Amino acid sequence: MRVVILGGGYTAIWCYRALQRWTGSSVEVTVVAPTSQHVFHGFTGEVLDGGLAPALQNSDLERCMPRARRLLGTAVAVDPVRRTVQVEQAGATTELEYDELVVATGAQDRTAAVPGLAQHGWSLRHPGQVQLLLDHLSELETTPAEDDRDAARRGTVVVAGAGFAGTEVAAALARRYGGTRRIVLVASGTGVVPAWQQRSTLQRRLLQNLDEAGVELLTGRRVVSVDEDGVVLDDGARLEAATTVSALGNSVPGMPGLEAFQEPDGLLRVDDRLRVTEGVWSAGDAAAVRSRGRRAPKEALWAIRAGTTVGRNIARAARGAAPRRFGFRGLGTVAAFAPGRAVATIWGVALPQPVGWAVRAAVFLWFVPSRRGAVDILRWSLRRRETVLPAPVPVAVRAPRVLVGLDGGRAASSGRRPAVDDRPQPRTAESA
Ligand SMILES: Cc1cc2nc3c(=O)[nH]c(=O)nc-3n(C[C@H](O)[C@H](O)[C@H](O)COP(=O)(O)OP(=O)(O)OC[C@H]3O[C@@H](n4cnc5c(N)ncnc54)[C@H](O)[C@@H]3O)c2cc1C
Repeated sequence: MRVVILGGGYTAIWCYRALQRWTGSSVEVTVVAPTSQHVFHGFTGEVLDGGLAPALQNSDLERCMPRARRLLGTAVAVDPVRRTVQVEQAGATTELEYDELVVATGAQDRTAAVPGLAQHGWSLRHPGQVQLLLDHLSELETTPAEDDRDAARRGTVVVAGAGFAGTEVAAALARRYGGTRRIVLVASGTGVVPAWQQRSTLQRRLLQNLDEAGVELLTGRRVVSVDEDGVVLDDGARLEAATTVSALGNSVPGMPGLEAFQEPDGLLRVDDRLRVTEGVWSAGDAAAVRSRGRRAPKEALWAIRAGTTVGRNIARAARGAAPRRFGFRGLGTVAAFAPGRAVATIWGVALPQPVGWAVRAAVFLWFVPSRRGAVDILRWSLRRRETVLPAPVPVAVRAPRVLVGLDGGRAASSGRRPAVDDRPQPRTAESA
């Protein structure tokens, strides 16, 4: 049996593992992914605040899926009748045949929702993107600002979107820069983390953590456009900022050939066995998985469990057995802020923050795709923060430059930064 898995994320890895476990080497697995690494998104906050080296977020897919044939490329179309996938690799398109296909292509950042966000904002989803943001932030320190206004612009980071990721990211950056940067978190609602809007205790803890980290919270506002010098809000106000982080949630781009199976928001409709149609399965962020009649959240543990079910069901199909129903009911949700500080629930019950942090650490380490990766992370976490992160420095202002004009008059420098060729480009996994 030929199984083709599209994607190199959580769903793909745990589907592969289930296939290995329940079929051994009797199936031939091909994995198509545009990068050679898996990113553990849950550690984004730790990397941004300096608690972990950026490379520790990544695991080599070769190590995670040693027996799979791997194709570095992007699936661009599926023909579910002929059972083929078109794969684009370095400009050329090849066709792959499959008996069973797993669409585990995840989601993309919802940058298209705000003009300028794709070009000037910083996303944190794909391999290398967190490192690119950190490089950009340190580059802002190395060249002195033209004047106080430019220094303020360079020293300001806007985080657009206050869901779980945006809230953690804002707090992590604030901790990293310890008051030497202005970190502004823009939230469209009255609080942060919409999923916990009605939970007053959780809201209070979230706001307290943001406040203690030094985050400036702007509620009831939306970012409506982004440019290289800042953002415009829906009330017309402008925030000058050299850095805008995209945390507006995600969307799922459709897969050509599977449009007939998409829900209105692009997610693939799956049955309770996670099958899209004969020979096609899907799970994780790409699929509209339902549990107890409700859409499953786009979270890693759900992707892991659903990916496992898909692998197991394909193994069952290979020996003529009926596929099993996806039965996971969820475990909990967490937003982490610092060692010992995490706002967390398990089965809806709020945990004390140190307990939430410890449970999260244990669960995350358990699900790092490679054991060696988990050990490296543990080692790093035990180091003292000061030994791995230089002390934060404010953005310095260049000594006033005096320009002497032809008329002998003197003019101060314009305060604009030089014409930029360092303008942030859309940052993709490839550019990383
Ligand atoms: C910054 C951030 C922080 C997060 N923090 C948490 C957290 O703390 N806890 C939590 O539970 N969840 C968190 N999440 C969400 C979690 O990471 C996702 O729910 C999870 O990644 C979904 O797994 P997946 O396998 O469906 O997709 P992904 O892990 O995104 O994998 C998708 C894979 O498909 C590949 N791909 C995409 N298009 C194609 C194509 N056309 N052809 C081939 N391959 C393709 C991608 O390159 C990638 O390898 C976070 C997400 C982000 C972005």
